[in-house]
Amino acid sequence: MTRSIWMNGTLVAPDDAHISVFDHGLLYGDGCFEGIRVYGGTVFKLAAHVERMQASARCIHLEPPYSGAELAAAIVETVEANRIDDGYVRVVYTRGKGSLGLSPSSCSNPSCIIIADTISLYPDEMYTEGMPVIIANRPRIPIACLDPQIKSLNYLNNILAKVEAIEVGVLEAIMLNIEGDVAECTGDNIFLIKDGTIVTPDTSAGMLHGITRRFVMEEVAPACGYTVEERTVSKEELFQADEIFLTGTAAEVIGVCSVDGTPIGAGAVGPITTQLAEQFRSMVAGELAERA
Ligand code: PMP
Repeated sequence: MTRSIWMNGTLVAPDDAHISVFDHGLLYGDGCFEGIRVYGGTVFKLAAHVERMQASARCIHLEPPYSGAELAAAIVETVEANRIDDGYVRVVYTRGKGSLGLSPSSCSNPSCIIIADTISLYPDEMYTEGMPVIIANRPRIPIACLDPQIKSLNYLNNILAKVEAIEVGVLEAIMLNIEGDVAECTGDNIFLIKDGTIVTPDTSAGMLHGITRRFVMEEVAPACGYTVEERTVSKEELFQADEIFLTGTAAEVIGVCSVDGTPIGAGAVGPITTQLAEQFRSMVAGELAERA
């Protein structure tokens, strides 16, 4: 249960956490956000999330209302106030209250909201049996239009692709970029494994630069003796892969069993994915132990 919300410097009861109907975050999706995991009361990869939040804000010409250090302290304060042990934190900057026009110049005070709550993961059986996914018809928005590395408050591109998945009874969709190459999923990054090599689309494909993606590339895979190749990944390669897995703050590492109904590898969570998922969990536990 959420006990208090951090709003612009103050912890308030959820019922007292209000935002103006004139806030451009609501009117135009003008703002940015972060989703962060808490494990054992510790905020995971806090510095990386704060850095990405501040970068997202600057990319949309929103001068962050708090410094990185202030934001990090506020996130920890909110987690503690809500006594979150294992959970999830949502951090939001909105452009603030303005007039009914697009121009951000009418909004003088950006807002900062921090919500700490429990987390909803993909169903347990998907971690053991694998997750079926589809390839969305809708392409990921091109970098030149709105760089997907900005975690903006406008997630309609992802939501509409997710609706395509839900309509056929699955929970996640792979999104191709406008060139037809693999970019990412609606709320997760993607990796594939072929002949023992782990590959992930290069960030130039247009994607959120996932913090879990980076953790897997820089820490988890090397600890298992693998390097990860970043390059252009074609749609066809998905079907030839031995294994596919997704990464995300909420999802962690989850194996994919089928794409558009076609089994991937043996149609189950592959052995390297299993090894990486186990390594992921033990490294998270190790990081917690180090801080204890
Ligand atoms: N891509 C998109 C579109 C996302 O929204 C997310 C976060 N849910 C990810 C990838 C994964 O990023 P992270 O590992 O930082 O959670």
